Amino acid sequence: MNVVLLGIPGSGKGTQADFLKNRLGLRTINTGDLLREAMKKKTELGKRTKEFMEKGDLVPDKILLDFIEEKIKEQKRSSGFVLDGFPRTLKQAEDLDLIFQKLGTELDCAIKLDISEKRARKRLEGRLVCPFCGAFFNLETNPPKDDILCDICGNKLVRRFDDNKETIATRIQVYREKTKPVENYYKKQGKLEIINGDAEADVVSRRIISVLGK
Ligand SMILES: [Zn+2]
Repeated sequence: MNVVLLGIPGSGKGTQADFLKNRLGLRTINTGDLLREAMKKKTELGKRTKEFMEKGDLVPDKILLDFIEEKIKEQKRSSGFVLDGFPRTLKQAEDLDLIFQKLGTELDCAIKLDISEKRARKRLEGRLVCPFCGAFFNLETNPPKDDILCDICGNKLVRRFDDNKETIATRIQVYREKTKPVENYYKKQGKLEIINGDAEADVVSRRIISVLGK
């Protein structure tokens, strides 16, 4: 089972990707995580990525697609994968299909988590991360037990750097302009499933399982 998760920032893609990983044994492919990992390990791709990021440029599609192709190859013998945060543009979706063809596999389902912008903004503004151990919390959906201290190590939690009001508005706007066409692309292929994402995480998870027929 190969799945793509779509939805504006704050729609819960990361949470549901983790759920699918645990429940169905799918491997998660998150381009943001892949890039960070490669930079940390200082691989060839990681070094190239870092150059772009240091210049403030977007990482070119070619690099992202190489990463993804690599990951899909590694996972061919597993039970499938879930892509979170990719494709973000129509061109990326088309290129992704070419990779699938090349590797003799295909996408089974694109799931769009539908949520109002107001709710998404609230969730994003509530996101907290522990700078010490990396644990995530959310004032809206998963609040820390003690004020804004980490449940695990007790350090003070901070907001994610890209979760301030202006960048959130920009990221939602970018989704509308660039990623919305990706939804239509999968709709035409008969692969798009729209799920109401405005509910508790486990309710949304059950909805996903039901459309996947698992
Ligand atoms: Zn911590």
